[in-house]
Amino acid sequence: MANAYSYSCRDCEGMEFCPASLVAATETEVWKLIKLHAEFAHGEDPADWDDETRTYLATLIVPTNVRVKEPS
Ligand SMILES: [Zn+2]
Repeated sequence: MANAYSYSCRDCEGMEFCPASLVAATETEVWKLIKLHAEFAHGEDPADWDDETRTYLATLIVPTNVRVKEPS
C-alpha cells in the first residue's frame, strides 16, 4: 500500500544522468523537495517554470510504499 510519493530526477527529460530521488509523505512535500533540488543541483529557478513544465513534473510524482516501523 502506498504511503508516500516519490520523484526520480532521472525520469525527467534531460535529467537522465541525475541520481537524485526524492521521497516524502505528501505530494506537497515532494514538490518542495523538487524545487529545492532543481535549484541546488541544477541551478534552476522554479519560479521560471511554466504551467506545462509543472504539469509535466507532476506526472513524474508517483505513489510508492516505504516500509516504516509500526508504532508500538
Ligand atoms: Zn536532478
